[in-house]
Formats: sequence, structure tokens, C-alpha cells
Amino acid sequence: VQTFVVQLRDLDTHLPLPGVRVGDLGKKMGLQGVDNGWIQFDHVRVPRAHMLRRFASVARDGTFTRTHKAQMAYAALIGTRGKLVTLSVGILKRALTIAVRYCGVRRQGEQVNPADPHTETKLLDYQSHQIRLLPALAKAYAYHFQTSYIEKLIEKFDQQADDISEELLADIHGTMAGFKAFCTWDVQAAIEQCRQSCGGNGYSSYTGLEELLANFSVIVTFEGDNTVMALQTANYLVRCVERQRRGETLAGSVQYLDKCRALTAWRVRSANDLSDPVQLLEALDFYAGKQVLRTVDKYLSLEGDKSLPTPQSRWNACQVELIEIARVHVFYNAATRFIEMLQSGEAAQLTPALSALCRLYVLNELKLGSSFLLQAGFMSPAQAQLVHDELLSTCALVRLDAVALVDSFNLSDFVVNSTIGAADGDVYTNMLREVAPRTGVAPYFATAIKPMLEGESLDE
Ligand SMILES: Cc1cc2nc3c(=O)[nH]c(=O)nc-3n(C[C@H](O)[C@H](O)[C@H](O)COP(=O)(O)OP(=O)(O)OC[C@H]3O[C@@H](n4cnc5c(N)ncnc54)[C@H](O)[C@@H]3O)c2cc1C
Repeated sequence: VQTFVVQLRDLDTHLPLPGVRVGDLGKKMGLQGVDNGWIQFDHVRVPRAHMLRRFASVARDGTFTRTHKAQMAYAALIGTRGKLVTLSVGILKRALTIAVRYCGVRRQGEQVNPADPHTETKLLDYQSHQIRLLPALAKAYAYHFQTSYIEKLIEKFDQQADDISEELLADIHGTMAGFKAFCTWDVQAAIEQCRQSCGGNGYSSYTGLEELLANFSVIVTFEGDNTVMALQTANYLVRCVERQRRGETLAGSVQYLDKCRALTAWRVRSANDLSDPVQLLEALDFYAGKQVLRTVDKYLSLEGDKSLPTPQSRWNACQVELIEIARVHVFYNAATRFIEMLQSGEAAQLTPALSALCRLYVLNELKLGSSFLLQAGFMSPAQAQLVHDELLSTCALVRLDAVALVDSFNLSDFVVNSTIGAADGDVYTNMLREVAPRTGVAPYFATAIKPMLEGESLDE
């Protein structure tokens, strides 16, 4: 695909040029301030000089010449997806700031926390609230570190586009497609979870969560629909397994395909072992590597199946598992980046809080994936129980720092823009300030309510 700039309107009258029909798409679910439009072209000739020609050009006689590697066509996609995930992580931080601050103040039900003298419980002290919000907080940190890494990668890519190896380019592109998909899906689900965690107040427009969800939701569709993006990553993974089988060396993001070979059973014996990065990394290598290999084996084994004669039909027969391995690949990369960052000692003073978050991020996924790990014989039922128990106790540990962990996102009240998410935690005053002017007699009292009150009773 090559890109062209096409003039749509006359610069003086702003009317569409001949052969161009253009209009506004009207009201959408969100992003009302963006005037998305539709276009139709009828025999419109585009001058060849209007082609964006950084990587290819067309001569006057129509000859097409590529001046760079074909894969450079990915360049724009990689940069844009990088910006999208950074933006998405910012949105996730904003939603979590609102929900965690509110749930750290709002009290409901009888006291469950012996250390708190108040008769009612802060929502964030409920175990069920912790498991709803805190894995999302762990994801925000995991994605924060992963996007920082990606931003540096893209910067390098922009500066050294010509020198970058085809293998690395394919790896960045293959991984970024899936990262866009699963990061944005996670953010969308987390905003909704934040909204529900705030009860009825979460539904108020003044809390900001409703608008966040409506405006954010399009991100799972545009710049590459998420399902299609996930399948692109899966396609890359299939190519990697094929290359591995030809004896080629694999790039960074899929090294688990080699590492998982030596692993058969998890060596975890106690809850303490679940804090050991070596044990976590082994689980991650097995979890990602064996799932990818199993799915690719299934896909490749269908080649002789007469009921699935085309590559497309065989691909379709594995789509659900292919999307799942893309998800696992993205998770693996974010999780290992988080662990490596901790091991590097980069943020030594914050290690206890960040280690707990990292453990929460990994254990939450291992719990979700425990059926695979049990089936594959890597995890025993006793280890599955340990993961479950440690997940809940890590949630309780992260809860202690939860408000500080969202405060450290350092979002100003202006940016958070929520009656229940301000830094002062004074949620009831802030909410009342917003709704206090909405008082007095309803404008429909005289026409709709009064006649009803004065009318004859239906019973009489
Ligand atoms: C607000 C907004 C702004 C946009 N801005 C731009 C823009 O600036 N520039 C631009 O070029 N585009 C833009 N788009 C278009 C956007 O990129 C597309 O809508 C998006 O890529 C999905 O394509 P589609 O609408 O054709 O859906 P379809 O391709 O018809 O997809 C419909 C559904 O089918 C599924 N599906 C499709 N193909 C497959 C497959 N092979 N396997 C399995 N499932 C599949 C998808 O997951 C999706 O759920 C915008 C869209 C919106 C809503």
C-alpha cells in the first residue's frame, strides 16, 4: 500500500473538487469533537508528485521504484501504534487515579479491617474490590515500563531506519500490532471496571469515567482493529516457529521459544518461591513458549486436512487459539520487561512496592492461565492453589500503597477532571459543588406534575 495526499476541496470556495464527494459522518459513540468524514472518488486523477515518497517513488513513465526495504512501509504504523499505546496507558492512569482515590475514601458496609476504628469499611479494603482494581493498577505499571522501552525503540528506529535489520523490524512490527490490541483492550476493560467500582457515582458524568470510556472505546477499532492486529502478531509468531524449525536464530521478543524447551515442571514449593524472579521467569518461558508451539503445531498439522484445503480456511480453524497466543506473547514481553527493570536496580528505593506490583501482574496471568499450565503438567494443583492464595495476599499488600501508587502518576486535578478523583480526597464536597446549583422546582412541575397531583384518583 502506498500513501498519497489528495486535495479534496477548492481552496477559495471550500466546495468539493470535481469527482470528489465528501461529507460528515455525524454523531458517534464518543469523540464528538472530531469531525470524521466519508469520501467517494469518481475518476479523480492524483498527480504522482502527491505520493509520500520517503521509501518509494513513481517515475513519469509509471515505473515504481522502492528506495528502501519493503518493510519500511511499517515505519509509520509502528510510530503511530507506539503513540497510541502511550496515550492509552495515560488514560488507564487517569481512570485508576479516579477509582482508587474514591475507593480509598468511600465507606460501605460493616467494618472488615480490624486496624480501622471506623464502623464502616473503605471500599478498597474489600478483597473483592482489590481484585477488581489492583491487577489493573499492576497493568498500568507494566505497560508504563513497556511503553517507555518502546518509545526508545521507536526513537532508535526513526534515527537509524536504514540500518535496522529486517529481522528486528519484523519483530518490532509483529509485536507492536499485538501490543496495540491487548493494551487497548485491557485499558477499555479497566475503565469499565473502574466505573463499576465507584458504584452509582461512577455513572455520573462529573466523575469523568463515562466520558473516558466513550471516547476511548474507538481505540480498540481504529489504527487497526484489535482482532486483526492480534492476528498479525499471531502470523509473526507462526513465521518465527517456522524459522526456528529451520534452525535460524530468533529475535529478542520470541526467545521463549528456545527457553521453554528445557522446562518440564515448575520448581515452586512455597509462597516465598513466588517472589523469586527466576521461578517467575521460568513459568513465563513455559507459559508463552509451549502455548505458541502448541497452537502453531495445530495450525501446521492441518495442512493435510482435505476439509480445509486453503491456507485461509486452516487459519480460520485456529483463529481463537492464534489470538490467544498473540495475547500471551504481549503479556510475556511486558512481564519480562517489568522483571528485568526490577533486576536492573533502576528504581532501588521503590523496589518493595514495584516488586509487589510486578508479582501481582504475573500471578494474575498465571491464575488465568492455570488450566493450560495444569493440563501441560508444568503446574501442580498445589502450586495452582499457592498462586491463587499469593495473588490475593499480594493484592492486600498492594492495597497499602494503592493511593500513593496512583498519586505517583502525578496527574493534576485539572487533568483528572473528576469530582471524585481529586487529590484532596474530599469527594462529597467536590460532588456537591458540582450538583448543588441543580436544585429548585423542576421546570415541568406546572405542566406535568401539578395536574397529576390535582387530578382525580384512578381508584375513584
Ligand atoms: C472514529 C473513527 C475514526 C477513524 N479514523 C480513521 C482515520 O483517520 N484513517 C483511517 O484510515 N481510518 C480511520 N478509521 C477507520 C478504522 O481504522 C476502521 O474502522 C477499522 O480499521 C475497522 O475496519 P472496518 O470498519 O472496515 O471494520 P471491519 O473490517 O468490517 O471489521 C468488523 C469486525 O469484523 C472483524 N474482522 C474483520 N476482519 C477480520 C478477520 N480477517 N478475521 C476476524 N475478524 C475480522 C473485526 O475485528 C471487527 O470486529 C476510523 C474509524 C473510526 C470509528
